[in-house]
Amino acid sequence: MIPRSIRKSICFHEAGHAAMHWFWGTAGDFCHIDMRPNSDFLASVRWRPVASEAEIGEMRSWPSAARGMATRCIMQLLGGPCAQNLECDRDEEWFELLMFNEWEPGPDQKSDIARAVRIALALTGEKGPEPGPRSRTFLAKISRWTDEAFGDPRLWGVVEALACRLQHVQSILDGDEAWEVMKRAWGGDPSWAALEMGRKWRRRLIGPNGSR
Ligand SMILES: [Zn+2]
Repeated sequence: MIPRSIRKSICFHEAGHAAMHWFWGTAGDFCHIDMRPNSDFLASVRWRPVASEAEIGEMRSWPSAARGMATRCIMQLLGGPCAQNLECDRDEEWFELLMFNEWEPGPDQKSDIARAVRIALALTGEKGPEPGPRSRTFLAKISRWTDEAFGDPRLWGVVEALACRLQHVQSILDGDEAWEVMKRAWGGDPSWAALEMGRKWRRRLIGPNGSR
């Protein structure tokens, strides 16, 4: 039996990942949330990967597209630990702690932070496995953006509603049902929720002239 306090942080963690999919408006990429622990994770969100590290690396000849894709992937990965921190641990240095406590080098590491670091390395072209200065700067910026996004009460409402629903899920919450919960909390079905969160996000995610 998982203690209640840990169960709560797992629910917020998974809801945070899912809410970042909501933020990016990728219902079709979202499969399900599995609340059963396995050998790798306490629980997991399944989605169709939007881009692999290799694909982001190949996109580097089109830097704005590569940066956009890397931003999306990293926010979706950091959404979990970020939401967990906001609800449970409330440490301003959650990202630094994550790097320090949970990051391990290697192509097979499956943790959120290991995957986020590999994406940053693919984007910057730094060799790794340690993130170099450019990867670190990029990751730190995206961790701040993730915090900021959840600072929006409307998006945080999506996290809370889904975390609340997950408390009662013993095995799998189907993606469509999770999407319904998030839609109700948001109060509508936007094509891209981030663009309803103010001009700052439009500028950051699309750019000043609508180019990406
Ligand atoms: Zn996670």
